[in-house]
Amino acid sequence: LPTIALVGRPNVGKSTLFNRLLRKKRALTHDMPGITRDRIYAEGHFEGVQYALIDTGGLVMESDNDSEEFQGDIFEQAREAIEEAHALILVVDGRAGLTPLDEQVAAYIRQSNKPILVLVNKVDGSELEAPALSEFHCLGFEVMPVSAEHGYNLMALREKVAQMAEDTGLKPEEEDDEAKGLKIAMLGRPNAGKSSMVNALTGEERVIVSDIAGTTRDSVDVTFESGGKIFTFVDTAGVRRRTNIKGSIERFSVIRALKSSSKADVTVMVIDAMGGLAKQDKRLLDFLIKEATPFIIAVNKIDLVSKAERAELRAGFERALRFANHVPVIYTSCISKSGLGGILPLAAKLKKECSLRVSTGQLNRIMKDVIEKHQPPIVKRRRAKFKYLTQADDEPPTFVFFINDERLIKPTYHRFLENKLRKILNVKIAPLNIVFRSTFR
Ligand code: GDP
Repeated sequence: LPTIALVGRPNVGKSTLFNRLLRKKRALTHDMPGITRDRIYAEGHFEGVQYALIDTGGLVMESDNDSEEFQGDIFEQAREAIEEAHALILVVDGRAGLTPLDEQVAAYIRQSNKPILVLVNKVDGSELEAPALSEFHCLGFEVMPVSAEHGYNLMALREKVAQMAEDTGLKPEEEDDEAKGLKIAMLGRPNAGKSSMVNALTGEERVIVSDIAGTTRDSVDVTFESGGKIFTFVDTAGVRRRTNIKGSIERFSVIRALKSSSKADVTVMVIDAMGGLAKQDKRLLDFLIKEATPFIIAVNKIDLVSKAERAELRAGFERALRFANHVPVIYTSCISKSGLGGILPLAAKLKKECSLRVSTGQLNRIMKDVIEKHQPPIVKRRRAKFKYLTQADDEPPTFVFFINDERLIKPTYHRFLENKLRKILNVKIAPLNIVFRSTFR
């Protein structure tokens, strides 16, 4: 799929633009603002042209944006984006004008020789255009003004992005989703055991397709049958590449990982038990939780860990998942073949839970009692009043509580409602999105 990345310094509006450019394939309730999750990789389309977008802005975790480490992060993201994307959009702030950091990022991405568009955001009308734009022309790329917030020039931008996608000459892969069955992405650092796991799980099964000629070598899907069900490991090319050759270092890319994960129904994050939760694992884990990705953690190479160490390992994962304790953790070994049998059934269960749909009537009947029995606590002499509740989306299930004032809901009550919903709807391992919306908005 033609892939376009949004790069640039923080606060120029990358994420807003990203969301503006995407149209979700299907949503139960029409585009409710505030319900779209923060994504880093997503697919969009305009007039029949399909493309993928990367929002590198979402990759910055630090808020202290003066630190050197932070600036380093911006270049790290740009590097990842250059690797993964076919064209780049450098987003700048028309009100702030051209800054030294803009110039540095421009110089950095220029080396990639990929098509680059400079998008001047926060230009809210024609009177601002001429002076605001002229200084950006000196970067030497095509310049386009836009306002993500006010919608100015957005239509032209959509057309432009579609044009950039077409100019890559890449055709979207023919997706025969039905034939692929349940799609699973294997993520994790090099040497965690992803390929061993794919081999072990497909080795004894009938592999239906293991290579699709003509598609990019990066995205080889392996479709196989197990227990009468069809499964596909997506993007296994990266997974299968031998990485334990001396001297070869496979760089771990968060973008690539999230890209694979967004193509799949279910993600398996493979972690090397010996290495424990490294910084990169933590980072990926945070993204998977934040994006409400349906995933399983497989702690692999458990044959190398003694009984005593196992308890410690378990406790560590419990701590790391204390705000996402629905995420199932299994302990596996590709050598002694233990735990592997749990992966496919767990993936199937996760997918099933994610597809849950409940009618508005049923939901409101269920929750009325719950809320009456456990009223939300009083905040500043006010108490949240619930109007009604609806399911806005599935995969994963997303619920919207309409209330008088969303600020009256505190995290403990949010968790209480989530736990109740999980119990009543029997959702144990899937992520649940719960959103509170003030009705006065
Ligand atoms: P990938 O880079 O994540 O695909 O990792 P590989 O599957 O290539 O595995 C990296 C190395 O770890 C190889 O030498 C494997 O033989 C080894 N390995 C994989 N799984 C296990 C396991 O469960 N136990 C042990 N002891 N070694 C493993």
